[in-house]
Amino acid sequence: MYSKTRAWKTRKIRKRLLKLKEYFDQGDLVSVLTAQPIDRFLDYKAPEGGCFNAAFVEVPLGPRKVIGVVWGEGRGDFDNNKIRSVRRVLDVPPLREELKTFLEKAADYTLTPLASMLRLATRAPGLGDPPSMRVVYQLSQNPSGKLTDARRCVLEVIKNYGGVPFTLGELAELAGVSSSVVKGLAKMGVLVEIQAPKDMPFTWLDPSQAGKTLTDAQSRARELLMVQMESPAFNTTLLRGVTGSGKTEVYLEAVAHCIASGQQALVLLPEIALTSEFIVRVEERFGARPAEWHSGVTMTERRRTWKMAAQGGLQLVVGARSALFLPFRALGLIVVDEEHDSSYKQEDGVLYNARDMAVLRASIAGAKTVLSSATPSLESWTNAQMGKYAKIELTERVGLAQMPQLKAIDMRVQELPANRWVSPVLQDEIATRISKGEQSLLFLNRRGYAPIKLCRACGEQLGCQSCDARLVEHRFQKRLICHQCGETSQIPEVCPACGKENSLAVVGPGVERLSEEASLAFPGARVVTLSSDVFGSARAMKQQIETIAMGGADIIVGTQLVAKGHNFPNLTLVGVIDTDIGLQGSDLRAAERAFQLVRQVAGRAGRAEKPGLALIQTHQPEHPVIKAILSGDDNRFWTAEAGARQLVGAPPFGRLAGVLISAPQAEDAFSVGNELARNGTPLLQIGAKIYGPAVAPIARIRGRHRVRMLIKAEKTAPLQKAIRQWLRPLKLANDVRLSIDIDPQSFL
Ligand code: ADP
Ligand code: ZN
Repeated sequence: MYSKTRAWKTRKIRKRLLKLKEYFDQGDLVSVLTAQPIDRFLDYKAPEGGCFNAAFVEVPLGPRKVIGVVWGEGRGDFDNNKIRSVRRVLDVPPLREELKTFLEKAADYTLTPLASMLRLATRAPGLGDPPSMRVVYQLSQNPSGKLTDARRCVLEVIKNYGGVPFTLGELAELAGVSSSVVKGLAKMGVLVEIQAPKDMPFTWLDPSQAGKTLTDAQSRARELLMVQMESPAFNTTLLRGVTGSGKTEVYLEAVAHCIASGQQALVLLPEIALTSEFIVRVEERFGARPAEWHSGVTMTERRRTWKMAAQGGLQLVVGARSALFLPFRALGLIVVDEEHDSSYKQEDGVLYNARDMAVLRASIAGAKTVLSSATPSLESWTNAQMGKYAKIELTERVGLAQMPQLKAIDMRVQELPANRWVSPVLQDEIATRISKGEQSLLFLNRRGYAPIKLCRACGEQLGCQSCDARLVEHRFQKRLICHQCGETSQIPEVCPACGKENSLAVVGPGVERLSEEASLAFPGARVVTLSSDVFGSARAMKQQIETIAMGGADIIVGTQLVAKGHNFPNLTLVGVIDTDIGLQGSDLRAAERAFQLVRQVAGRAGRAEKPGLALIQTHQPEHPVIKAILSGDDNRFWTAEAGARQLVGAPPFGRLAGVLISAPQAEDAFSVGNELARNGTPLLQIGAKIYGPAVAPIARIRGRHRVRMLIKAEKTAPLQKAIRQWLRPLKLANDVRLSIDIDPQSFL
């Protein structure tokens, strides 16, 4: 029977329980997860003043102090006398339940220790530092005094930015004056110096500001996207539109909706070099710059972004895949731009696919996901076909721009002198472009000068000492480089095998050699090479890309770096030099990748009013992938590809896990593989198949021999659980390493 006292009592007990779980008094045992490579929780005593559950804390670990998170009550599996105290609670908001659940689920999915996941979520320096202060300048209440032009400039800047405080350096730079002008204003009392915390909120983006006037097709796409955004439940949309169809403008509308409702948005880009162009567009659309998160950002900015994400001091982050692990306070939207891009898969450390993890995080946060691409991954395409994702399509380019015309050049009938790769047909087209003042792009997905360096006397091919890989000559850096381990060495004068002098020659083209050919064929033309190793820094590369966009090049020679989303309005010709490289791959996604890459590269042509042409050099014009690319009928390609994969139960219709075992001695890696193959019961029980062990296609990297296994299971099989059970009895010798790659992209 109901009674008031009873209800009151239950409430009191519940409150106490809640208190038990959520708050720990000084000396209470708490469990702490650190980001250190220790695969367990550690017990500590709550510090003076107590601490909340999920608080970020600093704890002693051996002789060090490390950062961790309070993960519930202590487990009590430590000798009580040896338990040390939490040193202090950090001045940052506690880990939110949403991020905690995400880390746990992502760890489970990728079979990664939770600590490694927490490490990804705490990759900002100085989180433990006390909030430090700096001097900033603000307008004073009652300014007076005579103003020179320079001084007026400073005040103008402050007004333009809505009165936000600036540091001396920022203000001087923005106003284009010397710092003494700013100091002078402070002396006069027009500006005041104040102490402010170092990590300031980001300038507010204004979502109500008008964007570009959308085309009819964009408006329709926007309407559909708004239905998704307004829906109370988490959902995912595949925004598919040809290159230049204005997808960015459409998903910025979703960003506007998200930040207008007071939530935070995250836009993931596959390549740092793309951020500057994107940031300019954000600035045009919302009147201020978003926060940036990638390896090119300073440590101070990283810390600021991390803290402001947690405190709600930012509305939009533009970043690389690791931005997924930021402690957002109110995540409402994740956009994955160029969602098919294979760089979303992290291939070392924690092996995760940021596109998939974005969907996971959004589902936990109750946020929306938009996956944007001209050539979606077969995974996303299938999810959209099956109705799991909403599908929004843009089939035409914005404005007067037309899709480029696509043509194959049959290289079997082209007459080319030795060591030349640009066919006469392509050369003629380039010459025409130069005479019209338009740009051409030559695409070759090979870094360096030449892929092979060999001795003409003895036939020796120069290879890496510690890898099963050839050394690639890089003339720009004047080095031989191993693309597997990154080891560089001097270009030798004599053959290291037979000792003969002047006998070393190069075979085949890399982008640098192609640039040389272009410069020779078109003397006087400005030839620019875009390849990741030509630039010392991300900043230098960004600058080069801006220069090209402004018209500072006639011929651009580039690797896949140029395939991704850049807008070069004056570029009207694309030549794909060696399309066949991509067709030779044996892995399951070879066709899909070749298709995506060539479509993307071709899509760089004719993005403005001038019509574009893409010429595809190939020795196999009848190859199905080449035919699909030329036909322009993408759906036919996806349908055929999906059918082929379904037939053999390959992803996305079945699941794969890669197993990579490496050791200094090949036998040691093999014996682990054989042991695993013999004890496959947990996998066989779920109906999975085990292939291998076999020598990996790249048999040795950094002196470690590599052996691979592959597990194939049905889509619904509990693969991770079975793998965990399978690996549990395994004891690895010290120098043997094993990693599991769920949904592998690379099979090398
Ligand atoms: P996508 O992301 O689909 O490749 P973008 O969003 O980059 O396409 O748009 C291609 C080009 O068209 C960009 O230069 C962009 O500024 C321009 N653009 C897009 N939408 C509009 C519009 N509604 N009005 C004018 N220009 C637009
Ligand atoms: Zn090497």
